[in-house]
Amino acid sequence: MIEVVKAFTLEHIRWLGPLEEEALREGKRVKVEGGKLEPEMRMIYDSVTKAARDANFWFLCDCLPDEPEQPVIVPFQIPGGISLRNRPNAPMPHDGGCVFRLRESLQGASGYFFNPLLHEPYDTQSKKGDPEGKPWSRTGRSVPPVAHVLKCFIQEARLHTLAGAERFPSPAEWLVELKNAAAAFPVAPKVPASEVLFTDPAVWRSDESRERLDERAQSWPKGPPPCGYLCWVAHDVEGHDINGENRDAGHVRVTSPVDSKFVYGNMVEGPYLFLGALEQCEDGSGWECCMAWAQPIASLELPFPVDSGYERRFMLSLAGRVRDLRGDRELEEALGGVAEFELRRPLFPEGVHGGSCVPDALLTVTRPGGPAPRARDDPFDDSDKARYVLEVMGLGDPEYEKSKEKTHPRMEQLGRLIRLEGRQFGSAHNGLEQQLERIARRIAKDLIWRWAES
Ligand SMILES: [Zn+2]
Repeated sequence: MIEVVKAFTLEHIRWLGPLEEEALREGKRVKVEGGKLEPEMRMIYDSVTKAARDANFWFLCDCLPDEPEQPVIVPFQIPGGISLRNRPNAPMPHDGGCVFRLRESLQGASGYFFNPLLHEPYDTQSKKGDPEGKPWSRTGRSVPPVAHVLKCFIQEARLHTLAGAERFPSPAEWLVELKNAAAAFPVAPKVPASEVLFTDPAVWRSDESRERLDERAQSWPKGPPPCGYLCWVAHDVEGHDINGENRDAGHVRVTSPVDSKFVYGNMVEGPYLFLGALEQCEDGSGWECCMAWAQPIASLELPFPVDSGYERRFMLSLAGRVRDLRGDRELEEALGGVAEFELRRPLFPEGVHGGSCVPDALLTVTRPGGPAPRARDDPFDDSDKARYVLEVMGLGDPEYEKSKEKTHPRMEQLGRLIRLEGRQFGSAHNGLEQQLERIARRIAKDLIWRWAES
């Protein structure tokens, strides 16, 4: 059943009736596939979505009943009615078969395309800092750079969550998942990115991939130009080369310099997950990689995007601590069952009252035995879930730190804010591991205080 909730706080309002639910699903389906709603359904769709829009309510989808969080559907005013959309930074994407997962832009040329060739490659020479810092317009025609597209794929595949990443024992397996996730992002009308995405270097080395791209390009719809994507693990990146030193891992020569993350002028070390854009050679004789972004990831087992070596250390240690908490027998006994721990590395700003914020990490714990009556006094602390926001201080430049300070009140809306002292990560008495150990104890205590069976 679809639930009506308050925006942001997700406080329960009511459940939709069967007819209302059908109207929402049908309404979404015709927006994606074309066609018209029956007049009666149209009326129900309009009244339900308008009432929700006016009251600033969202809907929670029911396509993932076993997950600790439900995907959010936001009623969005467009000319001529209300459309049902997902938050651009949705922490929880829908199930693969869910109609609300689909983007309405799939249907026509008026939509938004994740086609890298529509976007001017950013200038790596004059670039100061971070290409992702460059805002991309959600309303304009500009298409985000490959760095942004890669994050979209990662998020859709849920590889930015510990629970999501742990489903796969090796990169080959999570790359398959990433490819599946790319189905949600069209590069042209009715062409999902997954159709032109290659995640196996062996396929790219053979002629098979070019033949497939040629074939697809012949029946390419009007609109954005034919394109393709390459995506796999990069162990080294230098100039125009990906895996130049590790050719067996899939060497790619890019026609423009490969871009990546820099800290104080130094490129962050690998491993990376790269996304390269393919375009047809000018003489039509084949395909070449024209731009690529190498995103540093925590490790081959944990493809969380990281922005620095420090952050990599932090993420790997934190993941270890969360696994410890999961397996903590004493905690299990005190809580009367196994709590679920979901660690997430947010990739896009989280929308909250007063703006947005991007915390370093979010930990959501779900009470053993599932939902219980909700506490009214603290909407973010619904009684079956506890959320913790982890922030590492002192690693960026002063200006960056200042802006972080400003967003901390916003982060407190997402959960209990826990700060780490990044400058002391290497110290003997307050190093990273010691800080995390204290935090894990604090979280365990907090959970017991909230939920222990008395
Ligand atoms: Zn859904």
